[in-house]
Amino acid sequence: MSDLHLYNTYTRNIEKFESIQPNYVGMYVCGPTVYGPPHIGHVRGPIVFDVLRRYMMHLGYRVRYVRNITDVGHLVGDVDEGEDKLAVQARKEQVEPMEIAQSYTLAYNDAMRFMNVIPPAIEPRASGHIIEQIEMISEIIQNGFAYEVNGSVYFDVLHFNKSYDYGKLSGRILEDLMAGAGNESRELEGQEEKRNANDFALWKKASPEHLMQWSSPWGKGYPGWHIECSAMSKKYLGEVFDIHGGGMDLLFPHHTGEIAQSTACSGNNPAKYWVHHNMITINGQKMAKSLNNGIKVLELFSGEHPLLEQAYSPMTLRFFILQAHYRGTLDFSNEALKASEKGLQRLFNAAKLVHQLAVSDKNDFDIAEIENEIYNSLNDDLNTPQAIAQLFEAARIVNIIHDKKGTINAENLAKLQQIFQVVFSEILGILEESSESHDAWNGVMKLVLDIRQQAKTDKNFALSDSIRKNLEALGFEIKDGKEGSIWNKN
Ligand SMILES: [Zn+2]
Repeated sequence: MSDLHLYNTYTRNIEKFESIQPNYVGMYVCGPTVYGPPHIGHVRGPIVFDVLRRYMMHLGYRVRYVRNITDVGHLVGDVDEGEDKLAVQARKEQVEPMEIAQSYTLAYNDAMRFMNVIPPAIEPRASGHIIEQIEMISEIIQNGFAYEVNGSVYFDVLHFNKSYDYGKLSGRILEDLMAGAGNESRELEGQEEKRNANDFALWKKASPEHLMQWSSPWGKGYPGWHIECSAMSKKYLGEVFDIHGGGMDLLFPHHTGEIAQSTACSGNNPAKYWVHHNMITINGQKMAKSLNNGIKVLELFSGEHPLLEQAYSPMTLRFFILQAHYRGTLDFSNEALKASEKGLQRLFNAAKLVHQLAVSDKNDFDIAEIENEIYNSLNDDLNTPQAIAQLFEAARIVNIIHDKKGTINAENLAKLQQIFQVVFSEILGILEESSESHDAWNGVMKLVLDIRQQAKTDKNFALSDSIRKNLEALGFEIKDGKEGSIWNKN
């Protein structure tokens, strides 16, 4: 039905996308662990997979998109022992862990809405699917791929690797893992329960003070980090579904664990295509607490972070992310974001101008060729930067026609308008921001400036000065001219 090709991390090949069922795509993407406000490391995946989803919808597929919320089982340091990330934050804020989950889920979804990311069709929470996880763990034990020790259950990696290739997704060889994993985790409490240092927890016995725990066939405890995604993807998408997405940082151990768990139950890799996006760096460096470069999404929108020279809008952020191919690294810097802001403005202007162009009998441009190039780019492993390059070409043509340096006929003009509507707005999901709120501001500011003008006419300079000063304090710059006053929001 389409010519879409995607890079499948599992096979390390670019493959033609063929859905398992006709016209339907089941897609699972690992969502956030909700223990803090969303930062810019959180935004690339949702935007990339939003565009993939939008493009597949455009191609005529019905897409069931599941993105989970991890609210239990993800421990500090991404290991098998220690404290839950949510529980640590709950103690810090002196609230219930579920209050942490709730407030940061809302914050995450607010950020998604700002960036015009379509909400998932289903957004399951790990803590709401404990029963499903327990059932799956029982099945893995029954099939001989897991064992219980002292109320905890571990996945038997060595036994699994006799029948299947445990390290295939991450490209790691189990022997290498065995050599390395022991060293880094031998110190950790609970390691001695495992038959092999690479075995990972499916269920952990909870000590009485552990904040989040549930009853299970193995006593009170909580699920391991990886089992939720296997259990929830199976529940909502079936044993085998089309696309599993996530960041490259999840290849090991998280997605490796997911494949092992699902395979241990059904004998099958749960996803036909594994799609991974690359990570974000900031001024060439990884994000790290010690570098204080973990810019929060809201800080980016307000400009309030020492590394930011100005505020950047949600659409600038979205556009910036799509200007890089999802499998390449992406470096955040003020220069790069400003360049995106400028480029985006050019496209917004063209998207408006394209509706004001005059039609001619004569035609200088072949818009079908641009359209083809855009589809070729998106079909080529979702190459959004190349599609955007074609949008700039379309914008260049809009400006030529507007400047009366070229002409276009009705058929090509309709195609040109279609490109901005369909590709720019619907597939890439870029919307002219806050035009509505800008109109509202215009109305309010006109009112305020009229009052100030009246004060000046009445020689009430105390009032007119006070209005100007108060507006400036709020970030509005007022310039008085012969035609009246104009305003700008900084
Ligand atoms: Zn996951």
